[in-house]
Amino acid sequence: MATRFALIIEPTASDDARSDFSATFRQVDASAPALSVGELSTQRGDGIFESIGVVDAHPQEVDAHLERFVRSAEICDLPVPNVEQWRQAIDAAAVLCGAGEWVVKTILSRGIEHGPTPTAWVTAADAADFSRPRRDGISVVTLDRGFDLNTPARAPWLLLGAKTLSYAVNMASLREAHRRGADDAVFVSSDGFVLEAPTASVILRRGDVFVTPEPTGGILHGTTQLSAFAWLDEQGYQTAYRDVRADELRGAQAGWLVSSVRLAAPIRRVDEAAMPVDHELTDALNAYLLSPRD
Ligand code: PLP
Repeated sequence: MATRFALIIEPTASDDARSDFSATFRQVDASAPALSVGELSTQRGDGIFESIGVVDAHPQEVDAHLERFVRSAEICDLPVPNVEQWRQAIDAAAVLCGAGEWVVKTILSRGIEHGPTPTAWVTAADAADFSRPRRDGISVVTLDRGFDLNTPARAPWLLLGAKTLSYAVNMASLREAHRRGADDAVFVSSDGFVLEAPTASVILRRGDVFVTPEPTGGILHGTTQLSAFAWLDEQGYQTAYRDVRADELRGAQAGWLVSSVRLAAPIRRVDEAAMPVDHELTDALNAYLLSPRD
């Protein structure tokens, strides 16, 4: 993924009610330096972001992404984003994207140390080609996330429900999965429950019910999982949020990692055990996820 476009945004107060925010964005050369060396995003990973899938210049599920962006800001004590300003910035970046699949990122950092304001920007990059994992599936290994289901309530300063810029742990888990010969990882809590993948939500099929772990603070509430559940409901399937034991992952009839840009990647192996892949359902779900959605 190469970043093609970038817009620097002057963040405005969340109650700024103007109708046109275009004067608050400025396009910069995406290949040139744009951030100060004092930036807390680069020094401490202190900030939040969203990755929004864009298909043929249409940004997908913007409302759900902005809701999560606001929730992340609240959890991190960052100034609450002006939703309308960010919506217009996302639209401005999406129109720069050509045909095909792209990713627009919104980033809000605490800014420069002792500086007056947060730093905010949006980038647009062409998406990697995910046709193979969507079609052939992926192998996953379970990895201990090192906290139990009650940790987020007990220690909110761990910011577990926020999509922060600190993804070093998520990337380290992916490297560990690769070292173990798998494509991806599924985090399991120390008390034995399925959480999420380093960059995706987990959906399992148990009989006719599609289940996903309850997003009670330890994991992100995935926008793709929300869309997938809406589609499954429309198809007449039952969907449920609940605590999912790790042994239910290994014994599921089918499973998927779902996220905004890769979309639905069927799981074909968990640790040493093969998992059946429902190609027909996966293709139909991905066709839906690629259709324009608000
Ligand atoms: N969980 C984590 C840790 C993620 O990083 C992501 C996406 O990046 C998701 C879940 C899935 O979220 P979404 O479907 O909104 O992309």
